[in-house]
Amino acid sequence: MKRSSSPSAGRIRKLRSEFNRLGVDAFLVTFQPHLRYLSGFSGSSGAGLLTRNSAVLFTDGRYTEQAELEVTGWRVVICRDGLLDEISRRGFLAHGERVAFDGNTLTYAQYHTLRKIFPKASFRPRAETIEKIAAVKDEGEIEKIRKAVAITDRVFGEILELIKPGVREMDIAAEISYRQRKLGAEADAFETIVASGERGALPHGRASMKKIGRRELVTLDFGCVYEGYHSDMTRTVSVGRPVPEAAKIYRTTLDAQSRAIEAAKQGMRSADLDAVARTCIRTGGYEKYFRHSLGHGLGLQIHEPPRISVMSTATLESGNVVTIEPGIYIPGWGGVRIEDDVVIGKAHCEVLNRSPKELIVL
Ligand code: ZN
Ligand code: ZN
Repeated sequence: MKRSSSPSAGRIRKLRSEFNRLGVDAFLVTFQPHLRYLSGFSGSSGAGLLTRNSAVLFTDGRYTEQAELEVTGWRVVICRDGLLDEISRRGFLAHGERVAFDGNTLTYAQYHTLRKIFPKASFRPRAETIEKIAAVKDEGEIEKIRKAVAITDRVFGEILELIKPGVREMDIAAEISYRQRKLGAEADAFETIVASGERGALPHGRASMKKIGRRELVTLDFGCVYEGYHSDMTRTVSVGRPVPEAAKIYRTTLDAQSRAIEAAKQGMRSADLDAVARTCIRTGGYEKYFRHSLGHGLGLQIHEPPRISVMSTATLESGNVVTIEPGIYIPGWGGVRIEDDVVIGKAHCEVLNRSPKELIVL
């Protein structure tokens, strides 16, 4: 059964309204999260061709029923051979059209194939066009992210009792993955990070075979996917009473995170929001140990616009869903990071995570 109020029509309209600015007559959509955003189609093989007056989604016979169930606003064509060959056989892009594609995700080899199959069309890389439209979430999307976050929160609460000296980081990661699935997640959002002791100094310390030791901090960064939408949360806990420096670093990180959450709202420049947290960490004396940006948008992709960084030129909009995740990483010692997912609103932001943020001592 097809959903009655499909969001596809509005999204297609928004992308078409960009054609003049982009200087194109059509958009060839090949990246799966983009196609899913615009059509609802979640299959792994498909291409959408959006022109000013048609929207056609090409997929293969494995997805006939799935496309029937999921796709709204697009005519579906089931291809027997290659998707691009079928597009050509049906006479599309044979008249000198200017065609946009996502230059960040289409490969060089695919680009050459396009040029060969459609010699008359001219292909124009237009990156981040669909992401920018997708960066403002509607209520239905926020609801899915809310569910993903709720699963992640619940699993965090459950696995705390498993974190103890002698347990391997990998064991914790495996439990997180299993329990998220059991609660309805379709996948992990990314490879789970469990970084204990000195490994906490690696901002992306994927779970290893290392055993957790006494009086170590453990950073857990994980999330899940629910109906295509991601959650992403980090907490740092202490196994046994933390050493004095650990408590101070934790306090500074939490202060930075709380202040950024208080400041985040529509109309604020991303770079200014990053500065709120960075200033706080500088005051604590740890600025050179905060070596990444404050956060990123999330939705059908784990990292998407707007980026919350010093370099960003973005301005926050109501409906953006972003992470706020300051961290302090001291080489040879360890690290602390705290991350929540928030929805940007007109006057403030809404924090989706419910997991406690005061330092948990296990
Ligand atoms: Zn994360
Ligand atoms: Zn993140």
